[in-house]
Amino acid sequence: MADTIFSKIINKEIKADIVFESDKVLAFRDINPQAPVHIIIIPKEEISRINNFNSKKHSELLGEMIDAANKIAKDLKIDDGFRLVINNGEKAGQSVFHLHIHLLGGRQMHWPPG
Ligand code: 5GP
Repeated sequence: MADTIFSKIINKEIKADIVFESDKVLAFRDINPQAPVHIIIIPKEEISRINNFNSKKHSELLGEMIDAANKIAKDLKIDDGFRLVINNGEKAGQSVFHLHIHLLGGRQMHWPPG
C-alpha cells in the first residue's frame, strides 16, 4: 500500500475523527473543513486516483462509499442537500493520492465551484 497520510489513518497510526467505518470503507472529518460538515470517505483498499478506477474491480466498493455518504449525511442531518467531490490529479486540486470522496454540507453551495 502506498504510504499516504490516509493509509496511516486507516492503520490508526494517525488519529482522525472517524464518523463511519466498515470492513472496506472509512470516513472521517476533514482536518481543514471547507463547510460546516466536511467528511472524507475513503476505501481501505488503496486506489491512488479516479484515473485508476476499474469498474470490473471497484464498482461495488464505490457503491459502498456512496452508501456511506448517504448514511453519514442522514446521521449528520445534511441529507436535504450536500455535495460529493472527487478531485483527480494535482490540476484538479488532489493533494492526497488515495482515492477519496469529499462530502460537504451544512451551508448553501455555489456553482461553479472554481
Ligand atoms: P484533496 O485535496 O486530495 O482532494 O483532499 C485531501 C483532503 O484531505 C484535504 O481536504 C485535506 O484537508 C485533508 N487532509 C489532509 N491531511 C489530513 C489529515 O491528516 N487528517 C484529516 N482528517 N484530513 C486531512
